[in-house]
Amino acid sequence: MRADPIRFPRRYTDEEDVALAALLAASFAYGRVDLFPPVLERLFAVLDEGGGPAQFVRDFDAERDGPRLDWLVYRWSRGIDLTLLFLGIKRLFAEGVTLRRLFTRGFRPEHKSARQALDEAVEALRDATLAEAWRAKVDAPRFDDLPRGLRFILVRPADGSANKRWNMFLRWMVRPGREGIDLGLWTELPPSALLMPLDTHVLRISKFLGLIPREQGTWRVAEELTARLRRLDPADPTRYDFALAHLGISGLCPGRRDPVACPRCPLLPVCDAPSS
Ligand code: SF4
Repeated sequence: MRADPIRFPRRYTDEEDVALAALLAASFAYGRVDLFPPVLERLFAVLDEGGGPAQFVRDFDAERDGPRLDWLVYRWSRGIDLTLLFLGIKRLFAEGVTLRRLFTRGFRPEHKSARQALDEAVEALRDATLAEAWRAKVDAPRFDDLPRGLRFILVRPADGSANKRWNMFLRWMVRPGREGIDLGLWTELPPSALLMPLDTHVLRISKFLGLIPREQGTWRVAEELTARLRRLDPADPTRYDFALAHLGISGLCPGRRDPVACPRCPLLPVCDAPSS
């Protein structure tokens, strides 16, 4: 299930479609794993009617196309969030900035992580959505005045949360697809610069294995865990993401010592899970 939302970008062949589909799929990959895929199915049906994600955004008109997103109500996300996001991305497209350029231009070979490149990309998206908000008749003098759902999508690493969605998006776009999971399109960023996408499952199993000292979904913990995994594979630390997440998501690990599950678990010799 961890790999499931990547099926949406995999539907496309044009790189800008793939990147935009990945950004949207990652942005909505929160909450229950059975609830967000139907939202994405419906969203991509709308985008495909408009010629695919990139074409839909290039042609996006808030007055004409915004109402086509009004059905979107998923937790704190609403259609207006996507209207604003699409207006911002359209502005960047019009300036000749592709998503690839946006997310990779801030990276320098001396950087150890993609953090700086991600910071710059998110900041540019925030500026662009704020500058275009008037087209959707949203009165917002500052980015913080924009709707909560958009602020959730465009959260910054500097805001401190582990930011699973951005790190998963970058993993999809950057890691080679040799295991049949990731897309490996943005070769300007090396896999060694990626950070672990932290969710509750990865946090729990990583804590049991002594890879992190605490189960807190912060950016700092994502960096700590990535640093530990970099010792195992300096070139590709996030390769362990799927394996760590799988135990939790699949339900194989009950989250504590268990007389049935643990003897069958390959991590038993190194697991320090509590007994209750
Ligand atoms: S040994 Fe048991 S508690 Fe530890 S990860 Fe495996 S299933 Fe979970």
